[in-house]
Amino acid sequence: MNKRTLIIGSGQAAITLVRELRKLDASREITLVTADDGDFYSKPNISNAFAAGKQAAELVLTPASRLAGDLRLEMLTRTAVASIDAARREIVTAQGRLGYEQLVLAVGASPIPLRLAGDGAPDVVSINNLADYAGLRARLAGKHRVAIVGAGLIGCELANDLRLGGYAVDLFDTADHPLGRLLPPGSGHYLRDRLVAIGICFHPGVKPDALRRDGEGYVLIDSRGRTQRYDLIISAIGLRPNLALAKTAGIATGLGIITDKLLLTSQPDIYAIGDCIEFDGHFLPYVMPIMHGAKKLAQTLNGNPQTLSYPAMPIVLKTPACPTVVCPPPPVAGHWEEVLAEEGTRALFVEADSGEACGFVLQGSFTRERMALAARMPGLGKPLPQPA
Ligand SMILES: Cc1cc2nc3c(=O)[nH]c(=O)nc-3n(C[C@H](O)[C@H](O)[C@H](O)COP(=O)(O)OP(=O)(O)OC[C@H]3O[C@@H](n4cnc5c(N)ncnc54)[C@H](O)[C@@H]3O)c2cc1C
Repeated sequence: MNKRTLIIGSGQAAITLVRELRKLDASREITLVTADDGDFYSKPNISNAFAAGKQAAELVLTPASRLAGDLRLEMLTRTAVASIDAARREIVTAQGRLGYEQLVLAVGASPIPLRLAGDGAPDVVSINNLADYAGLRARLAGKHRVAIVGAGLIGCELANDLRLGGYAVDLFDTADHPLGRLLPPGSGHYLRDRLVAIGICFHPGVKPDALRRDGEGYVLIDSRGRTQRYDLIISAIGLRPNLALAKTAGIATGLGIITDKLLLTSQPDIYAIGDCIEFDGHFLPYVMPIMHGAKKLAQTLNGNPQTLSYPAMPIVLKTPACPTVVCPPPPVAGHWEEVLAEEGTRALFVEADSGEACGFVLQGSFTRERMALAARMPGLGKPLPQPA
């Protein structure tokens, strides 16, 4: 069988899928269409790049030209797909139409815009790709004070990195500790204290209301009416999947592009993978779901349908000030049991019905328990542990 497979996107999801496909089929015709320049890089490396003094170009692992050769791809870069004509099995770009037999959407997610009053609001930046990182470096040259809005994974990592890079960093969040949705209070305060110890100023329970331009910088007015001056404001309040393209084909969407366990969307022969999808009701914008998904999807596209389930996938927070691993529990009733010590914390989320742990947080020296604990956790698409 030699089907033309068309993939939209050139991020981790698209390239991992192509690599998996090539392991199974050296001759299949694969076309990749991407809105960006197609250079391959590892997005997680962005959050440690500033302190390491890396230029954006130094983060490129494989330039698009070499990628196309190595993986034997037809690659259309700087080509945004405007719509999908599912009835005719074609995608539509400004350069024309392109047919497919199998189509894969790997179109990622975009930062949620920060709503602010004031003339400075359009100048707020978000960091979600290499071009954003290049822009950040240019904007920060010769500057000193940065405000980061949102103390989630990316907000905390950027705060730590910019602080190590010599910047004065203020971190705002509406929660009373960083990673408010992922960490129980003890672990959250442990992380907060370690970020504060390296000089990050954490503002709990506060959100910025307005941003005014002021000479070369900005004045930020927060929800408590306080005003502070910054050179740059970074928003890290979260991502949401890119749905517009899928909607042009009438594909069902919810939190993300809804897929079944084969990563098939509601349209025949149109699949989706990566930050753009909703799988089993979950939006999982991380690398590990892509790795697992790409292996299965490659098999499926190759004529051997494979259903996907995920093992527990702990997330490693790249904050050198406070090594932290989080394995979020599923949305079930339960409570956290925390061990708090000077050298770190261990928090287990205990499910009410079974009395079994189904999520955890490890910090400091406790992070070495990661593998052992992960092996005990339920994954996605699998039943929760039952009482003995
Ligand atoms: C700073 C940062 C640090 C991170 N750190 C970690 C970490 O430590 N661990 C972890 O697990 N995860 C981390 N993540 C998340 C992880 O990087 C993402 O889950 C992953 O890179 C997403 O890959 P993707 O291919 O799904 O999406 P993307 O990389 O966003 O790729 C989407 C692609 O689609 C293209 N595209 C979109 N729309 C169109 C269109 N209409 N037409 C053509 N092309 C289109 C884009 O040009 C792009 O090539 C981090 C993310 C960031 C931003």
